Amino acid sequence: MILFLSAAFFALAAGQAAVRAEAPVPAALGTSPAVNSVRLGDHGKSTRFVIELAQPVKHKTFTLADPYRVVIDLPEVEFNLPQSAGQDGRGFIKGYRYGLFQAGQSRIVIDTTVPVAISKDFALDPQSGFGYRIVLDLTETTRSAFLQGREWPAQPTVKPPVQTPVPVQPAHDTKRVVVIDPGHGGVDPGTHGSTGVQEKDVVLAFAKELHRQLAATGRYHVRLTRDTDRFIPLRQRVAIARQHKADLFISIHADAVGKGNVRGMSVYTLSETSSDKEAAELARKENLSDVIAGVDLYGEPGEVTDILIDLAQRETKNFSANFARKVVDYAGKSTKLLQRTHRFAGFRVLKAPDVPSVLVELGFLTNRSDEKNLMSAAWRTKVAGSLVRAVDSYFGDRYAEGVYAGPAQ
Ligand SMILES: [Zn+2]
Repeated sequence: MILFLSAAFFALAAGQAAVRAEAPVPAALGTSPAVNSVRLGDHGKSTRFVIELAQPVKHKTFTLADPYRVVIDLPEVEFNLPQSAGQDGRGFIKGYRYGLFQAGQSRIVIDTTVPVAISKDFALDPQSGFGYRIVLDLTETTRSAFLQGREWPAQPTVKPPVQTPVPVQPAHDTKRVVVIDPGHGGVDPGTHGSTGVQEKDVVLAFAKELHRQLAATGRYHVRLTRDTDRFIPLRQRVAIARQHKADLFISIHADAVGKGNVRGMSVYTLSETSSDKEAAELARKENLSDVIAGVDLYGEPGEVTDILIDLAQRETKNFSANFARKVVDYAGKSTKLLQRTHRFAGFRVLKAPDVPSVLVELGFLTNRSDEKNLMSAAWRTKVAGSLVRAVDSYFGDRYAEGVYAGPAQ
């Protein structure tokens, strides 16, 4: 007997088979094909992964190592799945994630407990009450066979997002450029709270509010690295900041820890040496974003150790730390802070050598009060307002230092 996760669904589907029309329900015009269910089956020697769709779609599968992952690429689809989908595993499957990877492309990333081979990979037409299905059978293999098997599926390259051209600022334009970076997105949900609310959604809502308030001052050009639910690799977020010649880069996140009583906002700046164990662990988790989205980091260039970049980084680090202190001062007046609010660690998203960058963890989704705040529009308005004052104060100091000369003569 096959053990399916959604046994109730199966019973229902079987019961309905007799009365359900043979033809699949056509998807509404103009909408993406929809994934209506995902089922896992433990067959002992193999684990079956079934995706059920309202329409037939072409798919591609490949595997990635360290950690072991199976990736299924689909055209852009809607996922009509329960919020908890993918959090539990079965057989060789630890869990899975799904979402938009890039424009026109959705992705499912399966984490496996052992190196696996895709022993079967086929599509089925609607039959016996089921819709269109994509079926994968995963069987255990050795690490060396797994690594060899990686050669046949081509790794898709991450295409850069279509950027709106950066308008050339007139010479008298003294507006500073602030790039706001809502963390995670698409196939990378980030952390989640007890109600199932996801980090990628709450940080996007906050980033949009901060964008609105900063732009409303008329003092800044404000850009977002993403304004929809899509994935952006970490390196690309840094590249977007540099492309816009950002004067300040603010990455927005929310944390989660085992202890429900830990709460409050914290601010992080880049350092090779972490200020404490928690900061190091947080940076490790946040740096996993690309791995979670099924990006192959194999062959990525290592850290740049160029001496000039190092020097520029040192100056940038001081400015980043100055801004972090402003955030602590101003946000402390509007919301609860984590103790030792400003911390340091090796966050990959903060590595632009010439852009002062901070990462703000708005609070903990694992804490009831913080979770409530993060979902409250009133809280977002208040705290974004305090960040605007921190940005104003930071640039005010830099003007006073003569860093910005003011309007051109
Ligand atoms: Zn995050």
